[in-house]
Order: sequence, then structure tokens, then C-alpha cells
Amino acid sequence: MQKLSEPIIRNIVEEVLNRVAHQRGTSPRAGSTSQAAGCPGNAAAANAGASSYTAHKSFRGYNGLFSDPNDAVAAAKAAFEELQYRSVAERTAVIDIIRSIVIDQSVELGTLEMNETKIGRLEHKIDKLAGLGRNAPGTEFRQTEIFTGDHGLTIIEHAPFGVVGAVSPVTHSLPTIANNAINMIASGNTVVFNPHPSGKRIAAEGVRRFNEMILRIHGIDNLINVVVEPTLQTSDVIFKHPDISLLVVTGGPGLAKAALSQAKRAIVAGPGNPPVVVDETADLDRAARSIITGAAYDNNLLCLAEKEVFAVDSIFEALMSAMERAGAVRLNAAETETMTRKGIAETGEGAGRHYVPSRDFLGKDAKVLASGIGKNISDRVTLLFGETDESNPFVPVEQMMPFVPFVRVRTADEGIAAAKKYEHNFRHTAVIHSNNVDTITRMAKELNTTIFVTNGASTSGNGGGPAGWSSFSIAGPTGEGITNPMTFTRSRRYTHCGSLHILGK
Ligand code: NAD
Repeated sequence: MQKLSEPIIRNIVEEVLNRVAHQRGTSPRAGSTSQAAGCPGNAAAANAGASSYTAHKSFRGYNGLFSDPNDAVAAAKAAFEELQYRSVAERTAVIDIIRSIVIDQSVELGTLEMNETKIGRLEHKIDKLAGLGRNAPGTEFRQTEIFTGDHGLTIIEHAPFGVVGAVSPVTHSLPTIANNAINMIASGNTVVFNPHPSGKRIAAEGVRRFNEMILRIHGIDNLINVVVEPTLQTSDVIFKHPDISLLVVTGGPGLAKAALSQAKRAIVAGPGNPPVVVDETADLDRAARSIITGAAYDNNLLCLAEKEVFAVDSIFEALMSAMERAGAVRLNAAETETMTRKGIAETGEGAGRHYVPSRDFLGKDAKVLASGIGKNISDRVTLLFGETDESNPFVPVEQMMPFVPFVRVRTADEGIAAAKKYEHNFRHTAVIHSNNVDTITRMAKELNTTIFVTNGASTSGNGGGPAGWSSFSIAGPTGEGITNPMTFTRSRRYTHCGSLHILGK
């Protein structure tokens, strides 16, 4: 239980004064924006909201930080009820606060995340925050569908679920939280996060900053909530809580399985092991630059990053040379063998024994990996690579470190078959470098992934390329794809009979 500190008491007093002012109709909040647009707001509804909100225990002043997940859900529920009385314009303004914090404070927050998690690259921690601030879709993504006919009209509106229960990964702790929060608030939800324990401090600090400014400017707290000491038990409380109406989880296979076994809807952004095929028609320099861009980003932590390459024999050596020209460092056979021994560990017992990335190398810089195998390279090198065969554990394992295995295949079709096998049917991401549209089409059909990129870096498939929005939750297993505000809505139909079809006489 959290103690009532002086600021909390001050906030409670402030809230009571606000509500009194609001009930007298002097509050600036609900309805003001729509009135400015020439459509009167609904003052009665706004006042009804104030009184229903009063019925709840106040968590105002907590800024979304909770040690008890039950309190976090209660606070999120109260905030959801309050949010329903706020205009869409106000939701946009709230989201703009999150955007401004992740953009303006990206260096400080990115550094805090880097210092806490100790994986990835600082410049990409900063880039991820600033990038999502610019790209994460907000209220402009809301849609309404209308059907009209001889007998009236039907409107499909997309309503919020209510309080979302979410889990975030260590690979992008605050970026996942901020991106999800922007999307979820855009569609009118509030959220409780159980963050990864190794990224809990940055999760709490980001959430505190968002809520603190939202409360100060808009008088509403706890739209985004976080369990400050997350465990598997606290996530279980969130999963099973009756006031959580939707689960949204981002992480590896264990988490995906746990979420899918719950008796409520789960949106699962699960693991990936994205394969790359390079055929004899590809632009090899472009392929090499693209592989380095995607695979080296944040030291290969992205779930969509290139994890293994299948290149046809006739261009294999030319591709390896192109990789070196583009700045990656090739390991020889002995070095690749040492890298495999040090970079991959085994875990589990009996039939459950399997390979995992080693803790010492996961998310570390290429220079750290190289020095771990006794090789000295420049600080500027971001990616190591080497030839392996298919049986090397770097091929099936989602390594999340900047070493990529290159496997020689006889034909593009053999590469596509291997890519399909080692993507493990995660249906996450696959990449091909080819100028043969038939080969490209065959691979797209065979792999059947959520993201499929041709002739570019994997990151271009998630808003980093020609077009489209980005997200840190790519829901492959449950099919929602790259999440956006519409992902977190329920469809509601309204039908009006007999009139309002304004065409004809
Ligand atoms: P992780 O699975 O170890 O942890 C993710 C989160 O789940 C953490 O908060 C962790 O505490 C929690 N968790 C783990 N097992 C759980 C269980 N049984 N029940 C409840 N909670 C559980 O993953 P990570 O190391 O933080 O992140 C890397 C993994 O996440 C990779 O597999 C990567 O591909 C995946 N990922 C996927 C996406 C996507 O959009 N699809 C995005 C980022 C990361």
C-alpha cells in the first residue's frame, strides 16, 4: 500500500476543488473544443462523468506508479471512466504530451534505458524514442464505417475495450510502453503495464513523466500505469483481473504461451527469427547495406531484425565481399566456431533442452563480441558475420546479438525452403533480395509472414522505409499485425431505420 505523501494530499484537495468548479460549469475541460468548432458540447454528460468519477477511491497524484497491481487496475479503471467524458481533441492533446516527452527527452530517457538494461546501442535507444514520438499513430487513425440503403443507415463505431493489461519486453522497455500508450489512449483505453524486471526503472520513470504532465495540464491521472516491482505473480494478477478486458503482450515464447492460455482476448506480439534470402539477381551492394542496417540496429535486438541469411552459391562469395565493403567484419571458420561456442548457450532439461543466446553476448556491441573471441576490431564496426552451415545453432536461434550466420544454398528455392523452416512458423518477418518477381512472389506466399520486405532493410517494413506507420508490438500469432489505435477497439454497430438516407427523393 502506498503512503499518502504531501503531494498526494495536495492533489486530492486540488481534485475536490476542481470537481466543485466543474459541477458549477466553470471547468475548462469537456465540451470546450467541440464548442469552438461550432458544435455544442454535452455539459450534462460532462457533469454526469464528474459525479460517477467521484464514486472511486482517488489515486490522483500516484502518476501511474503502483506496487500493488490491483491498485494499478483500479486507478486505470477510474481514469478510463474519466477519459470517456473527455473529447477526442483532448485525447489528441494528451498523446501530444507523450510525443513531446519522448522526443524532447529522448537523449536522457534513452541513456537511462541503456544504463539500466545494458543491452543495445545508445544512439538507437534515442532514435527509437524520438522516432515513435513522430510515427506512432494517434487519434487520426480512428475510423467509422457507414452503410446506407433504402431503409436507413448503419454506422460502425470502434469503441475502446476499457482497461488494457499489457506486458513489455526488456529489448525496448519505454518505447513499447510509450508506443502502446499513444495507440491505446487514441482509441479511448487506459492501460496497466507489467514491464520486464530488467527494464522496470525506465518504465516507471517514463510513465511518471507522462502522467505528471498530463495531470498538470489536463487534470487526469493514471491513464498509463506500471507495476513498479514486476514479477510473474503481478503479471498473473493483471492477466486474471476481472476489470482487465484485453491483454496485449510483447515478448518471447514463454510470455506468448502464458497470454494465450488466459480466458480472455489476448493480442500477442511474439518472437521472430527473420530469415533473409539473397538470389543471383540481387543488387549485392544494396543487399549488404540493407542487411547491416537491419541486423546491426540496436545490436540486433529488434524482433524483426535479420537473424540468418541464405545466399545462393553463385553469388555467395560476392555477397560476402559486399558485406565487407559495406563495413561488416567477416569471421573466418575458426573464429565463427569460437563465436558459436561463446555466443550460444544451452538451457532446460531432457527433451526440453534447447539453445539460447548467451547472456554475456546478448545485445552487446560487435566490438565486445569480437574481443570475447580474441579479435580486435574498430569501434566503428557494427556487425560481424561468417559462413556457417544450416546445423549451426545461430541459424535456428533468435540470437539478438550483432553476429549473423550466412548459409550457402544451391538455388533460391532451396533458400526459401530453409527460410521457411527457420522462421519457425512465427509468421513474423522475412526479407528477400532479388529482382525476380516470380521468386519474390514464391517466397512471400511460402513464408506467409506479417512483414515481408524486398530489397531493403527489415526495418523498412515497420515504418522505417517508404511508407506506413511503426509499432513496437507486431502481433503475428494472433493476426493483428503491426498494431495501431484500431487494434485496441471493439466494433459497435448503430442502425437507424426508416430515414437518414439522404439521397434520392
Ligand atoms: P521475454 O519473453 O523474456 O520477456 C517479455 C516480458 O514477458 C517481460 O516483461 C517478462 O517479464 C514477461 N514474461 C516472460 N515470461 C512470462 C510468463 N510466462 N508469464 C508472464 N510474463 C512473462 O522477452 P524479452 O527478452 O524481454 O524480449 C525479447 C523477445 O520479445 C524476443 O523473443 C523478441 O522477438 C520478442 N519481441 C517481439 C516483439 C513483437 O513485436 N513481436 C517486439 C519486441 C520483442
